[in-house]
Amino acid sequence: MAAIDFEKLGFRCGVEIHQRLATSKKLFCDCVAEPAPQGEAPSALTRRRLRAVAGELGKIDPAAAFEGARGREFVYQSFEGRSCEVERDEEPPHELSPEALETALVVSKMVGASAVDELHVMRKTVVDGSAVSGFQRTVLVAVDGALETSRGKVGVQTVCLEEESSGIVEGGTEGVVVYRLDRQGIPLVELATDASIRDGMHAREVAEKIGLMLRNTGRVQRGIGTIRQDLNISIRGGARVEVKGAQELAALPELVENEVRRQAALVEVRGELEKRGAKPSPAATIRNVSGVFAKTGCILLKKALEAKKTILALKLAGFAGLMEKELMPDHRLGTEFSHYARARAGAGGIIHSGENTAKYGVSPQERGAVETALGCGADDAWAMVADSKERAERAVAAVFERANGCFAGVPKETRRAEGEKTVFMRPLPGAARMYPETDVPPVPVTAEMMKAARVPEGIGEKRAKYLSMGLGDVLAEKMLASPEAGLFERLSGHAEPAFVAVTLLETMKNLRRAGIPVEKVGEKQLAETLDLYSRGAVARNAVPEIISEAAKSGLPVAKIVEEKGLGRFGPKKLRELVDEARARGVKEKAVLFEEIMRRNRVNVDAGELKQIIG
Ligand SMILES: [Zn+2]
Repeated sequence: MAAIDFEKLGFRCGVEIHQRLATSKKLFCDCVAEPAPQGEAPSALTRRRLRAVAGELGKIDPAAAFEGARGREFVYQSFEGRSCEVERDEEPPHELSPEALETALVVSKMVGASAVDELHVMRKTVVDGSAVSGFQRTVLVAVDGALETSRGKVGVQTVCLEEESSGIVEGGTEGVVVYRLDRQGIPLVELATDASIRDGMHAREVAEKIGLMLRNTGRVQRGIGTIRQDLNISIRGGARVEVKGAQELAALPELVENEVRRQAALVEVRGELEKRGAKPSPAATIRNVSGVFAKTGCILLKKALEAKKTILALKLAGFAGLMEKELMPDHRLGTEFSHYARARAGAGGIIHSGENTAKYGVSPQERGAVETALGCGADDAWAMVADSKERAERAVAAVFERANGCFAGVPKETRRAEGEKTVFMRPLPGAARMYPETDVPPVPVTAEMMKAARVPEGIGEKRAKYLSMGLGDVLAEKMLASPEAGLFERLSGHAEPAFVAVTLLETMKNLRRAGIPVEKVGEKQLAETLDLYSRGAVARNAVPEIISEAAKSGLPVAKIVEEKGLGRFGPKKLRELVDEARARGVKEKAVLFEEIMRRNRVNVDAGELKQIIG
């Protein structure tokens, strides 16, 4: 596909980064702020049905109305210690987590944003059932920050604290959506940039920079799903489209490009419709064309009729030749309509006049009969849905509405990132989504809080520091990217930093791979082990043994060394070993060294032994 001239198109784009914080508790309750391990069974289930409720202004939000119309049931799984009455909306929220607030203030300082004087907790309507209460809590913490990028400053308009939504459980039955509450309420920090991002590569750079900065606080969760990007994208003559849930940074440039292609193509579709003098249809022309296909050779439709399904056809006046217009790679206007039918009605998809319907076994006569039934002229197109009558009706209604939307160009939508493409989710929520949370009083941001929120050193300074501590280039880079960096810094006073780094990055990893539960070894035990090593009480090779034993037995380090005979041999003992081996006739130095090392690997310091052998 041709390169995109972003500037010429009037491209505007901002990103919202959502990052889970590594706090001990959730944002508004005392539950553990980490999802339960995979495979853990839920301790209870809560069921709800969602209704679209009018907001404060008395208007029903379009996104809420859309979801309400889907009539789904929601089931929420609770997990012991990881969800409570607060997540289930049976108890008011507790105090805002001071730990999460401190992190948000650190992040605010890092982007030069000014903290607000007082925090006001707000409720934000959630329309997809992902919260029992129907809302998510959010708190504006700071405004007007900025980020330096290779292409100039990008403003960070807001820094917020938010509750994570509950996680969806795959594989639910039809009409039922299952969510897990362990994820809900984990603190998130959200940074929203202004719309000054220049193109897809720039979007990636901005997201990457913010991600690195957040990791650099040492206060955020790591791993899949702990950070995600939402994008707001528009072009001149279009409308704002929100793309949710981009996780792969590498896919961002293409994702942005494809969305811009889609919007530009929709603007072209509008131009073409105008040129033709086509107008939005006031009422849909829908015909039941099941009879046309009574003896069809099309397997798909034949099976549908055998299953007592109904085939409804919809006239798309003025759309001839447009259904097949490519909006993104492998995504035509017809695909777009099909996604609406799927999202709104749960229909499998549509068949339309822009397709090679002969491929499905639809004969030219059958096509002709559909067109006659609908009264299609040369400028018109059509779409068909085969489904239960009720679902087919909803599906063609969705396609009709989407087709009418083409006269406005780009519809305001929330879309989902799927690899490098965007897929329709629901209409963009209206502005009436936020209202105050009256159960949590405002929290003043004090000078003490601001002082306590200490900004960590930058990556550049940190790298220089690691190199000056004796970590080589490779080890320093590894440590910068490692979640153990904080632990390393705390432990680096207990032994040579390079040895501490190797212990944390390599020894621990090797032990974990060997099935040793090293996560059970606490910081104190590690510090004591390193102390013994640097005092010369144990040899280098004893360190993995001690960690391994500590993980398995949980005993104090000194006791492990004593019980397992892991102490380092002094010079006297080494001389005895050398003399004893020589007495047995081992004369050659290399053989002598190897033999003693082999027998006493964990107790002997290799350098010292070499010196004694001479
Ligand atoms: Zn809770």
